[in-house]
Amino acid sequence: MKGTVLGIEGTAWNLSAAIVNEKDVIAEVSDMYKPPTGGIHPREAAQHHAKYASYVVKGVLEEAKQKGLDASDIDAISFSQGPGLGACLRTVATAARMLAISLDVPLVGVNHCLAHVEVGRWKTPATDPVTLYVSGANSQVLAYRMGRYRVFGETLDIGLGNAFDKFARSAGLGHPGGPQIEQFARNASTYIPLPYVVKGMDLSFSGLSTAATAALKDNSMEDVCYSFQETAFAMVVEVTERALAHTGKNEVLLAGGVGANMRLREMLDIMCNERGANFYVPEKRFMGDNGAMIAYLGLLMYDSGNVIDVENSHVNPNFRPDDVDVTWIPRDLEEGMQS
Ligand code: AMP
Ligand code: MG
Repeated sequence: MKGTVLGIEGTAWNLSAAIVNEKDVIAEVSDMYKPPTGGIHPREAAQHHAKYASYVVKGVLEEAKQKGLDASDIDAISFSQGPGLGACLRTVATAARMLAISLDVPLVGVNHCLAHVEVGRWKTPATDPVTLYVSGANSQVLAYRMGRYRVFGETLDIGLGNAFDKFARSAGLGHPGGPQIEQFARNASTYIPLPYVVKGMDLSFSGLSTAATAALKDNSMEDVCYSFQETAFAMVVEVTERALAHTGKNEVLLAGGVGANMRLREMLDIMCNERGANFYVPEKRFMGDNGAMIAYLGLLMYDSGNVIDVENSHVNPNFRPDDVDVTWIPRDLEEGMQS
């Protein structure tokens, strides 16, 4: 694989530009939108991205220059085409188009969910995993099969991170809620039953979040946070395990911001041990939203001829990972991948 790609992520809170080649991340500069109160406000996040777009792009080019790489060495520009907040996606796409035009290089539209998977395959020993991708807005169990990443299970309403954040907001904790819920859960003494909603291979977290808020009336913050985590994590581990059984794969990869949670990692680790599967967690910088993953999948796509014209580069807030034709995994390698 050859080439150097500059990628821009900006689907939600994190605006991040990175330059990668096949060996490693050459440079990365990010600037996070932090809501003053409450959760992510889409328009304010987009305004943040517009304000800092030139800062992250200039910054990453500057950083690369110090390592001997010139802007003229960049072969393609990639960007998060979706899923994500419409206003944020449009802002980042505009910056990417301008950059591609001014450097006279092709544009690559990247599916954000698949970027999480591919950066995990790059930065861990995982080759053909079942991926549990749990972030603010998304919760999916994904695995590759015959030219596509298939969605084996997913949330029917909100992402697990949003469920945590929603509960945290109503409980008077700040944003993001996940890390604080994890802290409280450590000092719990009792498990309180909460709605466990797995429908076939799909999940629902909205009712669970509301029930956790209601449970605060008669229970301690510690016990509610613990019970919320135990219930939600048991649900996602169950679906991940069934995807493993169904596909016959023997690796699990964790992706997305919720993957920072140590209790979730422990539960996945136990399940994988019991099944004789390997469990992989990338370094933290590659787990939440980051520019490097967009640049890296951009490189895989560029290298396999998967580029787009500016005219066809519109964003898609509901872009599904199973809509993407996986050009970067040769079909004759599929057998090898699975061994
Ligand atoms: P992402 O959308 O992938 O950037 O991830 C952001 C989400 O991860 C937010 O909803 C956070 O609440 C959640 N999150 C971050 N750290 C933790 C944690 N330690 N435990 C649970 N959720 C977390
Ligand atoms: Mg994400």
